[in-house]
Amino acid sequence: MAQQTKRMCTECSKEFLVIPQEATIYDEKKLPLPDQCPACRHKRRMALRNERALHRRICTTCGSPMLTTYAPDAPYAIECQKCFWKHVG
Ligand SMILES: [Zn+2]
Ligand SMILES: [Zn+2]
Repeated sequence: MAQQTKRMCTECSKEFLVIPQEATIYDEKKLPLPDQCPACRHKRRMALRNERALHRRICTTCGSPMLTTYAPDAPYAIECQKCFWKHVG
């Protein structure tokens, strides 16, 4: 059984523990142990999600499939670039 591992967060320099269950998961996935505390990892995940997540949506105007950063359940009408520029031009 793996032991608790003490690590220092590269982001906020706080010490944090990697619990054995977590260490096992990283080990199974052949991933290195995290360099950041859970709080900083959470922050980073949220930031990544906001910047990078792309969803498949259907343009509400012309019906063509497109990728957008809007969440699938976002309550907006989503338009593809073509339709968007039609309004502008
Ligand atoms: Zn941290
Ligand atoms: Zn369209």
